[in-house]
Amino acid sequence: MASTEIIPGIHAIRGKFAGEFGFIASYLIISEGEALIIDPGTAGDPGDNIEKSMKEFGLNPKSDLVGIICTHGHPDHAGGAGRLQRNTEAPIMIHGSDADLLRDPSLFLNERLIMDRAQRFSMKLDKGPLRVNYRNLEPDSLLTHGQQIKIGDLLLRVVQTGGHSAGHCVFYEPTQKVLFSGDEVNNFPNDPRKFYVDLTGSIVDKLAALDSLSKLGIEYLLPAHDVPALFGDVRLQFEGARDGIIHLQDTILAHLEARGEADVQQLEFDIQQSRSVPIPTTLEALLVTTIQVTLEGLAEAGLVKDLGKGIWVTI
Ligand SMILES: [Zn+2]
Ligand SMILES: [Zn+2]
Repeated sequence: MASTEIIPGIHAIRGKFAGEFGFIASYLIISEGEALIIDPGTAGDPGDNIEKSMKEFGLNPKSDLVGIICTHGHPDHAGGAGRLQRNTEAPIMIHGSDADLLRDPSLFLNERLIMDRAQRFSMKLDKGPLRVNYRNLEPDSLLTHGQQIKIGDLLLRVVQTGGHSAGHCVFYEPTQKVLFSGDEVNNFPNDPRKFYVDLTGSIVDKLAALDSLSKLGIEYLLPAHDVPALFGDVRLQFEGARDGIIHLQDTILAHLEARGEADVQQLEFDIQQSRSVPIPTTLEALLVTTIQVTLEGLAEAGLVKDLGKGIWVTI
């Protein structure tokens, strides 16, 4: 079996483990002979197993796949969309604010992360967790907040969260209280405090999304880079994710206060030294970018300000 059934009709197809990225899970929803894929994954894995899984359930990928929906445009989630669409002709759906990443996947490295040239060079889009198999991929339709997507007799509600990236959406199935959370509630294995956001993301929106989603009474939380959380554990995942953000904000404020003024590189150095934040540190760019977006959120709250040229102070 290429997949694992989580609850009747909902299957996880897991790609291989890639360092601090964890694994990536694609979710296959089957209802009344129709199928939908949430996050086709990277180009080779789990992407290749999607059609195989469908066939194992007696489905025809060419006629029974009604849609390929992406929680967001990062290559580890959308990278396999091109080939899956070529093979199945199913429509690709993504939020308009992340659609540019399908048209030009290199924007992820060039515009969404703070990186120097050496880092950019070492993080190529043709290998590992960031493999993509398309260029100029045009989504067939754009997801909108509140939209309902029908698969057989199930309805998925689109909730734009916009924290992890501007176009990030999660998908909620209300009858079984299932939330497909992409990279919004937790990103990395076994620690919901591990997270990062891209430059279009927002810590303020991430906190607001966590707050409203945690009130839905979710029973099955299905993240992209972790095992599902069930029932009572769902609440702990939400609390962990929220604590992680608050902790990062507090840590940044404390380091900024101690230094008087600092830029993101200095703050990243301090955070790495103090080892007090569990967000991924092997890919420095993710940490620096997340610090930048967090500072922008703190500025919105009136707690810090940018003196210009990227020098920040507390207020
Ligand atoms: Zn992501
Ligand atoms: Zn991801």
